[in-house]
Amino acid sequence: MAEPMYKRVVLKLSGEALAGDDGFGINPAVMKKIASEIKSVHELGVEIAIVVGGGNIWRGVTGEQMGMDRAQADHMGMLATIMNALGLQDCLQNVGVPSRVQTSIEMREVAEPYIRLRAIRHLEKGRVVIFAGGTGNPFFSTDTASALRAAEIEADVILMAKNGVDGVYSADPQVDTDAIKYTDLTYLDVINKNLRVMDSTASTLSMDNDIPLVVFNLNEPGNIRRVVMGEPIGTTVKG
Ligand code: UDP
Repeated sequence: MAEPMYKRVVLKLSGEALAGDDGFGINPAVMKKIASEIKSVHELGVEIAIVVGGGNIWRGVTGEQMGMDRAQADHMGMLATIMNALGLQDCLQNVGVPSRVQTSIEMREVAEPYIRLRAIRHLEKGRVVIFAGGTGNPFFSTDTASALRAAEIEADVILMAKNGVDGVYSADPQVDTDAIKYTDLTYLDVINKNLRVMDSTASTLSMDNDIPLVVFNLNEPGNIRRVVMGEPIGTTVKG
């Protein structure tokens, strides 16, 4: 049997991906589907760390636009990611995939605090690790948390699962019919062309640490497994 291309991955799931067509909150059917996709990758023996977003519940910028203090609003966003992480852990448990949630904001009654070596140990033991709470700092994003955790645990790749978009385009394909899809890019391209792949902090961090990124469509069943097996889908971004 063919070997997976990546042995240790960081999968970034945005909050939006968990909401499905509802656009808000957690859609249980969607979450179940994602959990079984993760199970099929787990069965390959791949070590999987997941960074979950929170935009399906709350975003700091929205709070700021409403007149809130940004740091306070960002703390709410980080808590939203922890809710998503607990929901995902529950779904993983239901499909028989062992997992641990680690939070960057301590919440010991609910989940483990983030401890790098412990996270690596879980991965080595075949447990999926869900990193919740982003970086633990306001003014950052869960994209940056993905880049940071990927560097810390020495992941081979960041898998950026998108909701309905199958890669990186020169323009919004739903607005501009001339938009072209890129198959390969460098982080410098992403930064210079201002492509909406991840925010610039996350891009520079991934570039500096030489961690490749694959952007692909989560809504296509089997795609996470395809990417892990090295099938050329989506867009690959390298240093
Ligand atoms: N957030 C933060 N610091 C982090 C990660 C996230 O303050 O390191 C907050 C921020 O308010 C953000 C919210 O959590 O809007 C949800 O995260 P994100 O927007 O990255 O989620 P996604 O867009 O992936 O669903």
